[in-house]
Amino acid sequence: MTTQSTAKPLLRVKQLVKHFPIRGGILSRVVDKVHAVDGVSFELQAGETLGVVGESGCGKSTTGRCILRLIEPTSGQVWFEDRDVTAMDKAALRAACRDMQIIFQDPFASLNPRMTVASIIGEALSIHKLAQTPQDYEDRIVSLLETVGLNADHMRRFPHEFSGGQRQRIGIARALAVSPKLIVCDEPVSALDVSIQAQVINLLEDLQEKFGLTYLFIAHDLSVVEHISNRVAVMYLGRIVEIASSRALYTDPKHPYTEALLSAVPIPDPSVKRKRIVLTGDVPNPINPPKGCHFHPRCPKAMDRCRNEAPVLKDLGEGHMAACHLND
Ligand code: SF4
Repeated sequence: MTTQSTAKPLLRVKQLVKHFPIRGGILSRVVDKVHAVDGVSFELQAGETLGVVGESGCGKSTTGRCILRLIEPTSGQVWFEDRDVTAMDKAALRAACRDMQIIFQDPFASLNPRMTVASIIGEALSIHKLAQTPQDYEDRIVSLLETVGLNADHMRRFPHEFSGGQRQRIGIARALAVSPKLIVCDEPVSALDVSIQAQVINLLEDLQEKFGLTYLFIAHDLSVVEHISNRVAVMYLGRIVEIASSRALYTDPKHPYTEALLSAVPIPDPSVKRKRIVLTGDVPNPINPPKGCHFHPRCPKAMDRCRNEAPVLKDLGEGHMAACHLND
């Protein structure tokens, strides 16, 4: 199922599946598979931010990487504008990378420690032949550094000379170098201090306005995506269990898992009390997901039916979709 929209979407993801094989025995045969992404579908409009939220291992980062084909999907389709990304050969995919970029979670690990900031940002300019002369190359790098709040003095330095927030700014400048339309933000602030998180999110919002960017913003925490997202998708064990506008999802969640995640989000007004829903048990093993509703072993509202029958993602009106038998 897909979310409803009238305008032509920039990105369409249809029944995306990624199963990682598990090999064993002396012949290294496939003995099982991890159901990392299990039939994810959604659409993303140009200029929109879709937040994707869920616990570690729910498949949100794998979804983002499959969209860019940094990981090859097992099945499903990804359409960017009128191009089928899943059917592209290497040359077409390299060309499409100009339109679709990624910012990684860990700014410490995602920047090559042996490269200067100028080479890190300039690499994509060289690959895509975007600079006409050496002076143009340098001017573009300085302009990108200034766009993300750094300056020309930083060009010749190495990543270890920067703070975590500054390194993430370098990662953002690298993504912006090719003037992309879509950026997959893969937990871009999770590794940063809380005070720095807000600065980076504000920067991403400013850049979105300035360049008309579209974001797929992945996070494990609903509080992080609340302000930046137009819509939010909640994932559990490789599937979207709820997707709605931010306003609808935060004020009127339709899935018990979303309710539990929301109950952990701090409320700025101390006079407003929210009952904390503590989920018992661990996230089930994605090698052998539970029968019926994947969430039933931890769901405080589970019924007999939930143990045998998997709920489907159902449109409850105005594009608010949830997969829970309680909405029948
Ligand atoms: Fe809970 Fe059942 Fe709804 Fe699943 S279908 S979320 S187990 S109530």
